[in-house]
Amino acid sequence: MKLFFASGNAHKAAELQALADESPASRLRSIEIVSARAVGGMPAVAEDTGTFAGNARKKALALRARLPAGAWSLADDSGLCVDALQGAPGVESAYYAGPHGDGAANLAKLIAVMRAVPEAERGARFVCVLFVVGPDGSEQVFEGSCGGQLLREPRGGAGFGYDPLFVPTGHALSFAELGEAVKNAISHRARAWARLAEWVRSLT
Ligand code: IMP
Repeated sequence: MKLFFASGNAHKAAELQALADESPASRLRSIEIVSARAVGGMPAVAEDTGTFAGNARKKALALRARLPAGAWSLADDSGLCVDALQGAPGVESAYYAGPHGDGAANLAKLIAVMRAVPEAERGARFVCVLFVVGPDGSEQVFEGSCGGQLLREPRGGAGFGYDPLFVPTGHALSFAELGEAVKNAISHRARAWARLAEWVRSLT
């Protein structure tokens, strides 16, 4: 089963492929996450619906318009919701520091904005919505989240985005220190993927 991935984010694609490869069911292990590059690239999409599910749906439908008949479209919309910021940056996570979508600038802004926030108020949650559009136009949505705490300074070199600042609940290290295997066992994306995987199993 090929899932054409409506994103230019290579980190997300790699995480999803690793999740598919680790899935216990053989049907899932044979899932291939195909880059949008294979069909001419991801079309520009305004992420303006105000919800993860709405934005993910827009991305999946935009790519679907470029796909050959019979193909499946998959989109991921995700972000970091910070308690002390009333859920921001949330759906705006990719553009927190500006429309350029610079991950390092986004991280630097979050560090600065959170500098004066005390330890007890540094809770945050990663959210991921995976949206699938089938060859017949049917739509499926799967959500996952992962709670934790924000550090004051970034730590670790793995992952992407806000990973160096986020320590998931029950751990002492950041996502960027824990590395791919641990992140893929507990992350928002892994939890959304687990729901998607259950649905794929139900198709057989
Ligand atoms: P999207 O392309 O609108 O879904 O943007 C998602 C943004 O949320 C990314 O650019 C990151 O800033 C952030 N984000 C989502 N998932 C993760 C993750 O697993 N680790 C770190 N940052 C993430």
